[in-house]
Amino acid sequence: MRYSTQFLLSAMAPEQFPAPSVPEIAFLGRSNVGKSSLLNTLAGEKAAKVSSTPGRTRAINFFALLDESQRRRLVFADLPGYGYAKISKSISAEWPKFIEPYLAERDALGLCVCLVDSNVPPQQRDAQLLDWLRSVDRHFVVVATKIDRLSGNERTRNLTALRKGLEIDDVLPVSAKTGAGLKELWARIEAVRIGS
Ligand code: GDP
Repeated sequence: MRYSTQFLLSAMAPEQFPAPSVPEIAFLGRSNVGKSSLLNTLAGEKAAKVSSTPGRTRAINFFALLDESQRRRLVFADLPGYGYAKISKSISAEWPKFIEPYLAERDALGLCVCLVDSNVPPQQRDAQLLDWLRSVDRHFVVVATKIDRLSGNERTRNLTALRKGLEIDDVLPVSAKTGAGLKELWARIEAVRIGS
């Protein structure tokens, strides 16, 4: 299905979250993982631009995806990129205080799309986030970005390392550059809509 994207708002506190309506999909990942590029291909340039506007990079940016008859079908929540230097005990130590309530308590949240870079070995910071999502019973899919940069052998090796290091059964390789894997990712996202 073709959607058009409508920017809803940037939230810096739980009171500002939009009234829950349709299922929400959250996008998470360390800075530089390729989140803007992926959003750009999934939801259009406007979404990526809004999310990278100064002042909005530390917010949760909400977008509605509208079908042909302008009905709201899904909401994308673009979460601030987290850092890669610090390893902290609490998942939210380097995150604004409203992120954890969003992920833990938002009833409309149907799926977390967790981005990891396929060119980078498994990171403790990402493993921590996944552990935490498991602890709050969130559905998530781990997406390995920038897969176009890897040869066939490297691809297999790196994806295996990610599965092991992050203790996951499945990782979905994608490329915002070539479009590889995006059909599968859409299928996962739309299954949330149908399933709820
Ligand atoms: P963000 O900080 O997570 O939003 O990451 P960006 O989307 O800004 O991407 C970070 C860098 O990775 C940029 O230089 C992008 O051009 C590059 N990048 C992102 N996605 C891809 C991809 O699918 N393939 C390749 N080769 N580079 C990518």
